[in-house]
Amino acid sequence: MSKTSQKTIKEKIDFRGVGLHNGVEVNLSIKPSKPDTGIIFKRLDIKDENIIHANFQNVVEPILCTKIRNKKGVSISTVEHLMAAFYGEGIDNAIVEVDAPEIPIMDGSAVDFVDAIRSVGVEEQGVPRKFIKVLKKIEVKDGKKFISIEPLDKDLIIDFEIIFNNPLIRTRRKEFKLSNGNLTEIYNSRTFCLYEEIDNIKRMGLAKGGSLDNAIVVQGSKILNEDGLRNRHEFVYHKILDCLGDIMLSGNRLFGHIKTSQGGHALTNKLLVKFFSDKANWSLETFDNIEKQNENSYKNPVAIGA
Ligand SMILES: [Zn+2]
Repeated sequence: MSKTSQKTIKEKIDFRGVGLHNGVEVNLSIKPSKPDTGIIFKRLDIKDENIIHANFQNVVEPILCTKIRNKKGVSISTVEHLMAAFYGEGIDNAIVEVDAPEIPIMDGSAVDFVDAIRSVGVEEQGVPRKFIKVLKKIEVKDGKKFISIEPLDKDLIIDFEIIFNNPLIRTRRKEFKLSNGNLTEIYNSRTFCLYEEIDNIKRMGLAKGGSLDNAIVVQGSKILNEDGLRNRHEFVYHKILDCLGDIMLSGNRLFGHIKTSQGGHALTNKLLVKFFSDKANWSLETFDNIEKQNENSYKNPVAIGA
């Protein structure tokens, strides 16, 4: 299948599940959409102004999940795992209809979304896909936390480090390279939390739908879920899944090398805001353009994006 053509899903997909944070039952449908429309969320429980575009500029309150909101204040939460499935499965255009303010958490990973997309199949739309090419290194720091992005030729790398004051999770660092092709363990990796944080999270009005069916819960050096972890790197792989979903909110696939220590939804969003705020940091290219530039660059250094 071509990497350079825009894609949508072949047929409508239906899901039912519960929202992790609001605990509300949700019906969700994913429908094919026309080229250049991107990912569009539509709140069926609201009559007017119910369209929310999947864009980093619409992100609000990225606490424990990614929430996007339109200009009229209509929002949809926890879009990141579905967005990561779209990124990995090559979906550029889709309409996501929901009858509640939150995307269902399913099993806490992206695997149900991925399986469903694969079961209906993907359609090439014959319109060139655009890629964001990173031209300059950009970094965002928040105390000891940081995230940066720098140029990389026709690939995406996410180098993620987590540091937890917990004997089981500890410090872990993994590098994910999109061109390696195998996203299975990333897709499978579930969201997680520390047992002692649960009261606090619930006091914030979050995780009302949380359970051992949709999150890994760690107490000291023990995992409370009966079957333990799905893979050795599930904690850091889930953070990479989140990052991939948040990057999909840039509206296009991205060629770049991301490095982060203790990153998360808020930091990824800050990076995207800073990165896109200056046109000197990036250019929007078709795949053919990038190939041509690589051939010519040594004899004819063109002003990319001009
Ligand atoms: Zn997540």
